[in-house]
Amino acid sequence: MTLRFKSLGSGSSGNATVIQAREGTRVTHLLVDCGLGIRELHKRLGRAGMLPDQVDAIFITHEHADHIGCVRQLALRERIPVYMSHGTHAAMGQPDFDGLLRVVCDGMVVEIGALQVRPFTVPHDAREPLQMTCSDGAARLGVLTDLGRPSDHVMEQLAGCATLLLECNHDPQLLEASTYPWFLKRRIGGGWGHLANEAAAAIARALRPHGLKQVVAAHLSEQNNRPDLARAALAGAMEIDPAGIPVADGANGCGWIDAQ
Ligand SMILES: [Zn+2]
Ligand SMILES: [Zn+2]
Repeated sequence: MTLRFKSLGSGSSGNATVIQAREGTRVTHLLVDCGLGIRELHKRLGRAGMLPDQVDAIFITHEHADHIGCVRQLALRERIPVYMSHGTHAAMGQPDFDGLLRVVCDGMVVEIGALQVRPFTVPHDAREPLQMTCSDGAARLGVLTDLGRPSDHVMEQLAGCATLLLECNHDPQLLEASTYPWFLKRRIGGGWGHLANEAAAAIARALRPHGLKQVVAAHLSEQNNRPDLARAALAGAMEIDPAGIPVADGANGCGWIDAQ
């Protein structure tokens, strides 16, 4: 049994991550977020060695444009079930998914092929945002992007994950010095916005005694962060060399990474 994942793109230009579970000849592909145009998504799936019809299910974390992108088009074209919260569907304007919508909420356990997915709620300025952990029965992977702060609930959900795809959105100094308008700076840096590098590092540090072994930096702001700053923060928390921290970027995401 193997569990691995690949970001196809990460950040405000568009988020999409493929999670693959392989159990003998049975392979399950879950696409977490779909924040790219359909042609670009097809291209990036191709680079990952996949065809669109190999996606077994789509999980949408929340309604922000960098996460929903072409979800409806892809789902309807390939007849792929789409999992999201009631609030996310409402905030999207209740689009018709032609029977493919599966409403999920915090605390549910969802079986998708060889994967067991657990959505959980996070503090972020969307209607009903969910992040998730998933497991193939052996390894457990956590996905945590788009949150302003780690609540006790978030930390409890992530305990036991050996691998974490973790938002490192900004460096507070770069954000402060950026050309963003003040209200946007306040939104991003606030408790319902996005995680700063050090906040992400604190999460990683707190999860290490609970089994965390590997962290991948994601959802970096192009203006308000740099890969070396995110790497340094997470490497400090994990007590490893910064070169050992993969960073998922906007154009290419990252390579396939085995969840442990
Ligand atoms: Zn986002
Ligand atoms: Zn968001």
